[in-house]
Amino acid sequence: MIIGAGLAGAKTAEALRDKGFDGHIVLAGDEADRPYERPPLSKDYLNGKADRDSVFVHDAAWYAEQDVDLRTDTVVTAIDRAAKRVEFADGDPVAYDKLVLATGSRPREFPGAGRDAAGAYYLRRLPDSDRLREMLKGANRIVLVGGGWIGLEVAAAARAAEVAVTVVEPGELPLITILGREVAQVFADLHTRHGVDLRTGVGVDRIEADGGSTATVYLDDGTSLEADAVVVGIGAIPNVELAERAGLTVENGVEVDAGLRTSDPDVFAVGDIANAENPALGRRIRVEHWANALNQPAVAAANALGGDERYERQPYFYSDQYELGMEYTGYADADDRVAIRGDTGKLEFLAFWLRDGRVVAGMNVNIWDQGDAIKELIGSGRVVDTARLTDPAIPLSEV
Ligand SMILES: Cc1cc2nc3c(=O)[nH]c(=O)nc-3n(C[C@H](O)[C@H](O)[C@H](O)COP(=O)(O)OP(=O)(O)OC[C@H]3O[C@@H](n4cnc5c(N)ncnc54)[C@H](O)[C@@H]3O)c2cc1C
Repeated sequence: MIIGAGLAGAKTAEALRDKGFDGHIVLAGDEADRPYERPPLSKDYLNGKADRDSVFVHDAAWYAEQDVDLRTDTVVTAIDRAAKRVEFADGDPVAYDKLVLATGSRPREFPGAGRDAAGAYYLRRLPDSDRLREMLKGANRIVLVGGGWIGLEVAAAARAAEVAVTVVEPGELPLITILGREVAQVFADLHTRHGVDLRTGVGVDRIEADGGSTATVYLDDGTSLEADAVVVGIGAIPNVELAERAGLTVENGVEVDAGLRTSDPDVFAVGDIANAENPALGRRIRVEHWANALNQPAVAAANALGGDERYERQPYFYSDQYELGMEYTGYADADDRVAIRGDTGKLEFLAFWLRDGRVVAGMNVNIWDQGDAIKELIGSGRVVDTARLTDPAIPLSEV
């Protein structure tokens, strides 16, 4: 039984079949659509470059072909671990031998007045992206609350649609807590160059939006912004309530070991909700990355079938904004030192985050042949010579 029919849920079903499991698989999710990938919802699907069919994890026929009992529009309300049974808002309970939780995340709601304003847009699901896309066709000006990855990608899509954009970000720079000042500045400059009005160091006090064509965003410095629509992108919250009510250990997500087992050996957790022991880092991490949802299921499925595998991949994510495409591998803290190889001005560079002289994370911006070398460098844990690291003439294997 798999709860949550997003990427991680669908990949769990696929991995179980790939590994030869021929028993009953129920894949239950509360969305109307079959499992799809979310990254295009703020990128090519939003800006009209990718069509709807391209976002789905499997084609519609796959579920029947693989004998996966996909139940869409199905809300799981409880897990009875003693009886090994899952309960639904509608319909009969389903018994399980092994259970995989893949309930993902939901958008963090704007905490001030106006969070339910009909005109405030959030972006998580396919219909949200459809609604945003429609809005962008008719809007002249939007305000984005939050300058995180999704906010900045929506800003880029809006500028491509020639909509005026103001981004309100309480931090000193967008992404500064993730990337540090030097690299965050590259993103700020990119958006400013594309005409985005970046308001940093100021928060949003309240939103007034009626779902019509006017919205007002009141900032906490006493000023206000008028727009046709307001998009809120202030992070995500893991959907852990089911796990919590079932008595599983939940702390910043559902705690799992390196084999993705929860505190109950018959229950696994994968994707955005999994706060997983990471052997390479020597600590538990929870990341909201597409690659995790893609790759963790194979390990959970192997272990659900009696194996003993560990999820050891380095965290990885990517983003596309205007002419900038990037990949980020590893896991850095905001105060890790940054070293740059290449030309940030030309948007062709590698950035490395260093701790105790070792590379703990790397980002390739518009350079596409260094991904494996960056992974190797992080994985090796060796102390590097910063002068060599920042010299593009020296192969990364020799720094
Ligand atoms: C707009 C957008 C853009 C993104 N872009 C990137 C990117 O560029 N790069 C990157 O690395 N990551 C990106 N991400 C993050 C990435 O999409 C997530 O990490 C990934 O979707 C996690 O997959 P998941 O299957 O764990 O969870 P989800 O995709 O959230 O799927 C979980 C599913 O479970 C359902 N569910 C929850 N509770 C229940 C219940 N009780 N009963 C039934 N169903 C339930 C949810 O409704 C949902 O359908 C993006 C996310 C968004 C929203």
